[in-house]
Formats: sequence, structure tokens, C-alpha cells
Amino acid sequence: MTRARFGGGGARPAPRSLNELMGQALTMEREAVARYTELADMMETHNNLDVAALFRKMAGYEQLHVEQILADMGWAADVVVPRQSGVWGTPESPEVVPIEDMHYLMHPWHALQAALSAEQRAEAFFAEMAGTAADEAVRQAAEEMRREEAEHVALVLEWLAKVPQPDSDWSVDPDPPRHMD
Ligand code: ZN
Repeated sequence: MTRARFGGGGARPAPRSLNELMGQALTMEREAVARYTELADMMETHNNLDVAALFRKMAGYEQLHVEQILADMGWAADVVVPRQSGVWGTPESPEVVPIEDMHYLMHPWHALQAALSAEQRAEAFFAEMAGTAADEAVRQAAEEMRREEAEHVALVLEWLAKVPQPDSDWSVDPDPPRHMD
């Protein structure tokens, strides 16, 4: 997949404070939870239960990340972080899997490829934040987040090693649904 990482050149604003960085991280992780959950629901609707289970698992990991950020910062679970414009360089935050990458017949291998790209974008995002951080505390926090995303990348790669790559005719449905939403 050759999706542009951050949608073209423009440098993104560097996080000016720990609050700002962790606020961005919280938004990003919440959006990752929401999207992985949405994809799991979507796959369940299509009775694609293996793929649904993988997305559900990823949502669980991202939820742990959300809770950890809240605990680290001493924030309430319903804290609202104002969204800064231009922070991602893309309409969606880096850790979400694009809806258009979904197919109701997709195999676990495809789901994991999509998750891999999302987790790699998240890792690259925090690497960039660490590189442009205003001070050492922000840099260290960004580096810690980057390390955790690298663990997600490693986890997805581990799963990928265990699932077969589908044949090229995987999207041919012998009994197509009458209508799709
Ligand atoms: Zn992650």
C-alpha cells in the first residue's frame, strides 16, 4: 500500500507542551478505538467473524492506550480535547484504518495489512512528534508513545506470520448478497 503517510509536504505543528501532545494522542487513540470497533461491527454484519475478532482485539489494545493516557495525565474519562486543525495533515488521524479499505469478503490477512499500515502511521506520527518536541518532557512522552505503537506493529506482524495470504480470487463471491449498505 502506498498511501501517502501524512498527505503531502506541509510540516505539522510541533507539540508545544505535554498537555498538547497527550491531548493529540488521546484524540488519536479514541478515534482508533472507534474505527476498529466500527470495522468489527461491520464485519459481524457480514458474518465475517474471524476478521471481526481481529478488529475487536485491536480496539481493545487501543482502549488500553486511551486509559493509560488518562491515568498518566490524571484526566477524567470524559475529558474533551479540542481538536487542533492541521495536526494530522490528513482528514483522519493517522491510526485509523480507512473505511474504503474494507471488503465484506476480506480475509484476516487483509485486515492485518490494514491494521499494520495504521499502526505504522501512528508510530511515524509519534516519531515525528518526538523529533520536533519543544522540550525534553514532551520528547520523552512522544518517544514512549512511539515505542508503544512499535509494539502494536510487532504484534500485528506476529499475527500476519500466522495467517495465509489469500488467493487472488478472494473477492469473488459465489453467492453474492442481494444488496450491500
Ligand atoms: Zn496502536
